[in-house]
Amino acid sequence: MIIGLPKEVKDGENRVGLTPGAVKALTRRSHRVLVEAGAGEGSFLTDEEYRAAGADIVPHAADAWAAELVVKVKEPLPSEYQYLRPGQILFTYLHLAANRELTQALLDSGITAIAYETVQTEDGKLPLLMPMSEVAGRMATQVGATYLEKHNGGRGILLGGVPGVAPASVVILGGGTVGTNAAKVALGMGAQVTVLDIHHERLQYLDDVFHGRLQTRASNEYNIEQAVFTADLVIGAVLIPGGRAPWLVTRKMLAHMRKGAVIVDVAVDQGGCIETSRPTTHSNPTFVVDDIVHYCVANMPGAVPRTSTFALVNQTMSYTLNLANQGLDAVRTSQALLHGLNTHRGHLTHKAVAETFGLPY
Ligand code: NAD
Repeated sequence: MIIGLPKEVKDGENRVGLTPGAVKALTRRSHRVLVEAGAGEGSFLTDEEYRAAGADIVPHAADAWAAELVVKVKEPLPSEYQYLRPGQILFTYLHLAANRELTQALLDSGITAIAYETVQTEDGKLPLLMPMSEVAGRMATQVGATYLEKHNGGRGILLGGVPGVAPASVVILGGGTVGTNAAKVALGMGAQVTVLDIHHERLQYLDDVFHGRLQTRASNEYNIEQAVFTADLVIGAVLIPGGRAPWLVTRKMLAHMRKGAVIVDVAVDQGGCIETSRPTTHSNPTFVVDDIVHYCVANMPGAVPRTSTFALVNQTMSYTLNLANQGLDAVRTSQALLHGLNTHRGHLTHKAVAETFGLPY
């Protein structure tokens, strides 16, 4: 099969849909890979590396989009709609429920669009969302430590303390993928860590894997207040699948928090779990409310595109290979890919997206 790798055009997007290693895995199986010149630049992957892996470097986006299977990171932008066509397979993040115009463009084009974020394994997991949660979770602690520094507005605390001086108190709301990864880094840096979750099995799991090195608490109003009022760093990491994040920390509670404490609300992409959160950007990531520094970047992995590219492609690769080897038959034989199918030959094929727009499914 011919596989296309266009350069991402979305502002600030530096990830790329295939690494040279992934290209090699495809070309070794006799597939042809067309890489748009400079596609990997944002992740410091050179055309030379792609060429050495067996790719053909093509000068224009249109050349890469001419392929039968197009692998990307972000959804097509209006400037790319012209390339979509029936019979072609697109494999990328789409988030269609938030984008009616794109949904219509995909339907009008007749393309077969498979969305990373709805690929779902039998146990209900979303394997192509998980790598970005791993990145964001680990980053959350790193970013929190930076903003705890005095010149960044924080209370001037070193996360791990030093001998004779207490470490920072890190409170993590939600012990899923983001929360677990945030906890891992915070423990590694020597902080005192408390994780709150509503699911007891999750707390049991965390207690087991961290051998009691962190504290776990059932997530309820009382325990949240107790933890947050004495925290130096609060990390918001809750998720209610398909729903808006609940406000676990209210504006009133901020007044009882330590001055100069930092909140990193990773859940801001789902509305945030702190009442005072609002989405920010990498160019202007923080704001202060009631002496509490808020970091609420909705696309945290964008700050580390090289790590994020490798993390994403590690997970997408087996599906990409499957699609390259079998074409549309891959969707028929893989339940996970079938869940990923969002549009096919002018029809909406994902129930939740169809329901969002009141369109037939
Ligand atoms: P996850 O499903 O793995 O974990 C969420 C956890 O929240 C679960 O363990 C769940 O039990 C817990 N939870 C739900 N309600 C709770 C409550 N009231 N109190 C305490 N815990 C509660 O999800 P995840 O992959 O860790 O993602 C967490 C959030 O981070 C999501 O909103 C996701 O969209 C977001 N995210 C943001 C970025 C970013 O760049 N900002 C990147 C990746 C993920």
